Amino acid sequence: MPETPMITIEAVNKFYGIYKALDDVSLDIAAGEFFSLLGPSGCGKTTLLRSIAGFDTPSTGDIRIDGQSVIGTPPNRRPTNMVFQNYAIFPHLDVEENVAYGLKRLKLDASEERRRVGAALDQVRLGHLGKRRAHELSGGQRQRVALARALVMRPKVLLLDEPLSALDKKLREEMQVELRSLQKAVGITFILVTHDQYEALALSDRIAVMFGGRIAQVATPKEIYQRPTTRQIADFLGGMNFMKARITGETATRLSVETPRFGGVTLDKPLGFNARNGTATIGIRPERLRVLWDDAKADFEVSGRVIDRHYFGEITHLIIDVPGMEQPLSVSETNNFGADDIPVGDAVRLAYDPDALVALSD
Ligand code: ATP
Repeated sequence: MPETPMITIEAVNKFYGIYKALDDVSLDIAAGEFFSLLGPSGCGKTTLLRSIAGFDTPSTGDIRIDGQSVIGTPPNRRPTNMVFQNYAIFPHLDVEENVAYGLKRLKLDASEERRRVGAALDQVRLGHLGKRRAHELSGGQRQRVALARALVMRPKVLLLDEPLSALDKKLREEMQVELRSLQKAVGITFILVTHDQYEALALSDRIAVMFGGRIAQVATPKEIYQRPTTRQIADFLGGMNFMKARITGETATRLSVETPRFGGVTLDKPLGFNARNGTATIGIRPERLRVLWDDAKADFEVSGRVIDRHYFGEITHLIIDVPGMEQPLSVSETNNFGADDIPVGDAVRLAYDPDALVALSD
């Protein structure tokens, strides 16, 4: 993190009547970062984004952009620009007119304005469609116009509110790749609001996961996925198998536990961990359990019986009943070796790496 963050959110609370939409939110976002606010519907992510943009005002706390407090500064005087989910482009104007719209108040001379519009359209690969009317564009092209219209203003921070959620799956995935390379090319800070964990994992340098108006964890995509600190975060980012384990030892940073079927392990202690009745919740992701075929052996094994099987094309989900465990284990196995053909009722052995186990706060 450089000395002065591009964005500082400091102890922000936002009330709607007695309802607390943002609850003591503090956050630093670096210049040039692709940062995502991720969480379920109603967690407050849009309220936080709108507060950075200036469309909402925090009830208490401060927001600084590039070192300056922006509380009381209207949206159009902040060094930010927002791209909305529904594009908000003018259907009766052509692409160039749409992109030039916000520039009008800068009263640039005509050639400078044309140059900036052309550059913004080239950035989103729409240079060839400048004269096309907006209503004649596809959804993906409209989204690019909306991006160009924001970029042409040369903001320090681009705010994106679920910008891809109206697109179909294939187009959304293409636009995700483009959004990522666009951000790297222009080099400005992007803040993305999304409820789609894959989108956040694929695009971001860092992610803040939010629940109930609070920030639950801020980390890189890999850390958030592999080292979630709470059960709620682990669950929100794809399925995880959970088990209760007895705590056998504890230091400031490490936790030793005795698990029902995964033996005794020592794990990193999550931030803010509180033991209840001497037990901890331990998790392992379904793809970190591998089927052991035939006589294959592994250093760490757990065995059970297949009670259900779900085919997903490239992978199969196996549900395995393991004696002594409260919940069946969910296993995600590639179909390269025939996991899609394992009969329900068969006994299976599973290999795991103890490093894949994580301790979680409840
Ligand atoms: P979504 O993905 O559904 O937009 P979100 O995480 O972005 O959800 P917010 O839009 O920030 O959530 O809303 C957070 C909470 O604040 C919600 O419970 C919402 O109903 C409430 N809220 C938002 N705006 C207002 C408002 N203007 N007046 C009253 N309550 C509001």
